[in-house]
Amino acid sequence: MIIVMKKEATELEIKQMEQTIIDLGCNAHISKGEIVTIIGVVGDTTKVDPKQVEVLHSVDKVMHVSEPYKLANRAMHPENSIIDVAGVKVGGENLALIAGPCSVESVEQVVEIAKAAKAAGANMLRGGAFKPRTSPYAFQGMGSNGLDILVEAKKITGLPIVSELMDASYIEEFEEKVDLIQIGARNMQNFDLLKKLGKVKKPILLKRGLCATFEEWIMSAEYIMAHGNPNVILCERGIRTFESYTRNTLDLQAIPVVQKLTHLPIIIDPSHAGGKWWLVEPMAKAAVAAGCDGLMVEVHNNPECAMCDGPQSLKPEKYAKLIKEVGAIAKVVGKQI
Ligand code: PEP
Ligand code: MN
Repeated sequence: MIIVMKKEATELEIKQMEQTIIDLGCNAHISKGEIVTIIGVVGDTTKVDPKQVEVLHSVDKVMHVSEPYKLANRAMHPENSIIDVAGVKVGGENLALIAGPCSVESVEQVVEIAKAAKAAGANMLRGGAFKPRTSPYAFQGMGSNGLDILVEAKKITGLPIVSELMDASYIEEFEEKVDLIQIGARNMQNFDLLKKLGKVKKPILLKRGLCATFEEWIMSAEYIMAHGNPNVILCERGIRTFESYTRNTLDLQAIPVVQKLTHLPIIIDPSHAGGKWWLVEPMAKAAVAAGCDGLMVEVHNNPECAMCDGPQSLKPEKYAKLIKEVGAIAKVVGKQI
C-alpha cells in the first residue's frame, strides 16, 4: 500500500502517519520526492483501512500495490535511486564504469589492469576472488588473498572494488574489504544469502539469474531490501536461450523494463552475455544508448593466458577505445561520465 501525502503536508503530519503505520504493526518507508512525500506501507496491510487513511486532510490518496515486490517498486519511490559506492554514484545521470579481470590472478596483473582501466575512464575495479566455476577442476579463485590484492590495487588507484560473494561465512570479510558486493547469477535465488545481505552495510550488485524472469529477479532484490539493505543495483548479464553460438543472450529489454518496474539502477555486463570479446563493444554501446546506468566489462592485460574468461575479455587499449565512444553516446542520452 502506498500513501501519497499532500504537497502541503507538514513534517509533523508525515511523522504522525509513520507512527500510526508502525502502531498497526506494519513498516513505513518514507520517500521524499521534490514535490510529494510517499509513504510505503509494507507488512500485513490488512490492518490499515485505506478509507480511514484517505479521509485525513494531509493525505492525497491511498494506492494498492498489486505487484509482489513493494520496496523495489517504482510506485514506492518514483524517482531513480542513486546508490553510493564508496563515493561513486550509481543511477540517475551517472554512468558506472566497472572494469577488471574475471579473476584476480596476481598483484601485478590486477594493478596493471586497474591503472589502465582508470586511465581509460573506469570508476570501479572488478575482480573475482571466489569464482563460481561450472567445473570443480577449474581455477576456483584466490580467495581471501585475492581480496587483499584488490585492496592493494584500490590503495594505488583509488578505484572502489567490486567482487563476488558466494558464501555467507565471508560476509564480514567482504564488508571490510569490498565496496560493492556482487551476487552472481547462480546465487540470485539463494534466499538465505539474500536475507543476510539485508543486514550488510555495503551496496549489493545483484546479477540476473541464468533463467530468471524480471519478476523473479526483482523479488530477489526485494529480499535484500525487505531485510534492511535498500542499496541494490541490478545487473543484466545475459540469459539462457536456445542459441548456443553466444554464451548467453543479452536481454537489452531489461533496461527499460527494470526502469519502468523499479527505481533501482541497472547496469549491463556484456562480457558474460556474449562470451566473445568482439561482441562486447557493440552490446555495450547499445546498452548505453538504451539508457543503462553502467557497464561492467571484463578487461585483461593478457586474455590469451587468463585463468578465466579470456575469450570475452577486452585488452586495455580496446577498453579505452570503447569508453571514449561510449562517452559520446552517454551524452546523447543525458548521462555523464
Ligand atoms: C562474473 O562476473 O565473474 C560472473 C561469474 O558472472 P555471472 O554470475 O554473471 O556468471
Ligand atoms: Mn567472468
